[in-house]
Amino acid sequence: MSRIVYVDGAYLPEADAKVSVFDRAFLMGDGVYEVTTVLEGRLVDFAGHMRRLIRSLTELAIRPPATEEELLAIHRELVRRNELDEGIVYLQVTRGVADRDFLYPPADTRPTLVLFTQKMAVLERESVRRGLSVATLPDIRWGRRDIKTVQLLYPSMAKMEAKARGADDAWLVDTEGRVTEGSSNNAYIITPDRRIVTRRLSQDILHGITRASVVRLAAEEGYTIDEGGFTVPEAKAATEAFITSASSFVTPVVSIDGSPVGTGTPGEATRRLRDIYIAESLRTAI
Ligand code: PMP
Repeated sequence: MSRIVYVDGAYLPEADAKVSVFDRAFLMGDGVYEVTTVLEGRLVDFAGHMRRLIRSLTELAIRPPATEEELLAIHRELVRRNELDEGIVYLQVTRGVADRDFLYPPADTRPTLVLFTQKMAVLERESVRRGLSVATLPDIRWGRRDIKTVQLLYPSMAKMEAKARGADDAWLVDTEGRVTEGSSNNAYIITPDRRIVTRRLSQDILHGITRASVVRLAAEEGYTIDEGGFTVPEAKAATEAFITSASSFVTPVVSIDGSPVGTGTPGEATRRLRDIYIAESLRTAI
């Protein structure tokens, strides 16, 4: 079955879903996106994703293409038309179609809105049973990583390099030797004294929607949340390590640059945080 894709007001078979070559996202990477997970046909943390979308659009002075209620209706209609039980809805907003120019087109330019679904197993994953290996690479992305833009070339290059080194993913490291985040996820370690250490929110990292929930749930579990960040040697000495993102939830990291983390196998604390996060997501999905 070919997917039904949403483009600027129309639900179309994917082969007919098209955007102009003059779209600013195609020419300048001038667009933002969100990925919302679908469990049991319902949307996980939809309000959080919409809050971040509005923030990204505001930072770039792109006009919101629709209201939150309209975007919710489109998400639900796509889930229904594509009979999606488990997977993701991808949403992209671009500044729209204009003659190529570094200056933004007039503020009343109509933004382009595209959404599509992707069926995907998110609950049962080999990576969760096995744990991920990561390779560390320099974080040479631009300075506004808090804006969720479609400029994903360096994360893509970093993931390719990680694969070439035999790892599953990349952890990016700043010039002071501190981990910022993963190529497409937030990064954490758990220390022997039950601290969960991660990077503080700033322009250096994406403000993960999953991060917000997991940090809250972990604090309720009695963990101390330490947002001071960590170095690569600190990560290698941790008891456990993990990543979070909308589609990977909480997934264990078991080795860093070939050194095992803890026992080198998925740990009990990470497993429990994953279970709690999934239970909460199933309870609150809309
Ligand atoms: N950091 C980066 C760089 C990402 O691309 C993502 C996934 N979009 C995340 C963190 C995790 O964010 P979320 O939990 O909202 O998916």
